[in-house]
Amino acid sequence: MMRRLLLLFMVVAGTVIAAGCGNPSNSAFLSVDKACCTGCAACVRVCPSDAIRIISNKAVIDPTKCIECGNCIEACPVNAIY
Ligand code: SF4
Ligand code: SF4
Repeated sequence: MMRRLLLLFMVVAGTVIAAGCGNPSNSAFLSVDKACCTGCAACVRVCPSDAIRIISNKAVIDPTKCIECGNCIEACPVNAIY
């Protein structure tokens, strides 16, 4: 429960921080700011459900696989996931 509340807070905070930083894409729950994503794949390495692919050097999240653990949000060095 606390983990989900923390994740929700991080997503809301990330949305505020990332506002105006590019074009959001991807799942209904998480988004990747393609303008900020460097394609480093740090998020791919920490995803426990193999939900992230790097396509055209940008992270793309598969919402059907994502279990909303928040690992990718924490791992991204440029805060591109929110
Ligand atoms: S929230 Fe977790 S399961 Fe979903 S894409 Fe990020 S690391 Fe993968
Ligand atoms: S960790 Fe961040 S910058 Fe690196 S590929 Fe994932 S979303 Fe892009």
